[in-house]
Amino acid sequence: MSDAETMSRLKAINQRYQMFRAFCEDGTPGDAKFLFSAKDNLTSSEFETCAGSRILEGYRPVFDAAPIEKMKAAGGKLIGKTNMDEFGFGTFSANSAFGIPRNPFDLERSCGGSSGGSACAAAVLDDHVSLGVSTGGSICCPASFCGVYGIVPTYGRVSRYGLIDYGNSLDKVGLLSADPSKLSRYLPVITGKDPRDPTSCAQPELKLAHSRISSVAVPDEALSGVAADVREAFGSALEELKSIGIEVDRVSMPELKYAIPAYYVLATSEASTNLARYVGMRYGRQDGDLSQKFDDYFTDVRTAGFGDEAKRRILLGTYTRMEGFRDRYYAKALQVRLEVIDAYRKQFEGHDAVLTPTMPFVSPKLSDISKMTPVENYAADFLTVPPNLAGTPHLNCPCGYSSENGMPVGMQFVTDHWNEDMLLTMAEDWGKRFDLRRPEVSV
Ligand code: GLN
Repeated sequence: MSDAETMSRLKAINQRYQMFRAFCEDGTPGDAKFLFSAKDNLTSSEFETCAGSRILEGYRPVFDAAPIEKMKAAGGKLIGKTNMDEFGFGTFSANSAFGIPRNPFDLERSCGGSSGGSACAAAVLDDHVSLGVSTGGSICCPASFCGVYGIVPTYGRVSRYGLIDYGNSLDKVGLLSADPSKLSRYLPVITGKDPRDPTSCAQPELKLAHSRISSVAVPDEALSGVAADVREAFGSALEELKSIGIEVDRVSMPELKYAIPAYYVLATSEASTNLARYVGMRYGRQDGDLSQKFDDYFTDVRTAGFGDEAKRRILLGTYTRMEGFRDRYYAKALQVRLEVIDAYRKQFEGHDAVLTPTMPFVSPKLSDISKMTPVENYAADFLTVPPNLAGTPHLNCPCGYSSENGMPVGMQFVTDHWNEDMLLTMAEDWGKRFDLRRPEVSV
């Protein structure tokens, strides 16, 4: 294919699936060794960076985020910034100010969120790897809905320098690809200490010896409330794992049920402080009426620039931090976070990994998502939030297809802090056995 043909195909694919918020007019390899894309909350000097928000329209960073910088240094070319829920607030990528990316298996359905565009790009583009970000499930959820592999490293493994913060104690940069060997190839590229992000400074090196998972704990609590087609595909995957000699034990982790309320208190508390910087002065839109008093100017810009979900989270997060409520909500949620970490620690004394389905249902129709209440939205994250609260590494492996509608189903492995090597081996071993279906891409 000539460069011009490659480019016009990329444009047509994007028009159909809307996975890019911005993409390179010259999306061809040139001298590059590989092509990659990145979620639009990672700054990049070539493109406007908006993190899915109207308020950042026009913001053109002067530097690349550390993971983008490292991918480029390894010979990669950034072909586009992927569409996402505003600031990462969502599970379906339906909260973006720039349209909704479409699931490549069914255009009426969601790609998942908030790294929906990255999962879509990983599913439809050959030989592709995309940088995603997870705060509470935003890599594993879309990877599961789009039928690709997705890895979230230990908190602190990858520098957050240049990442537009959602929740600083939770945000992690990871990778999505249809090819599991790409995770092993590029995770070492983006990891490492970075003095520009203090939380990335103390960590054991990423082991490349790649040891194997030989036993998994499957918590009973993770299977209640899961749709029948997901249980069925997950059940067959468990049988397959047993047949390759992996010990599968049913366990109880009652602490998991407190993870969702704790996460939404902590994540919104952090998000509400992070969003305070967007007032139409330093970043993005600056189109308010400057003859007003400064707080009226800020209010106008924020009213016009933030979407409904961002506003909801500012209110919620401000409330949970207020004097008088702080102990009841914020401090309590921090205690629950410790309980969740402890619950994993206990499981890792006897097992290499905790295994659950990734999402309780396959990707829903966009028309059904619009009818969901915020609480129903949040509850959908009950399997992906716990490892994010604990800061433990985790992986989505596609594990089957719904017997009802053919949509992909994913399973999620969680290992102890710094044990990404076991996840990488799992993904590669599974990739050799699992018959991955790629969506038909017709443009
Ligand atoms: N769905 C979760 C939320 O809305 C997680 C999103 C994320 O990881 N960015 O907060």
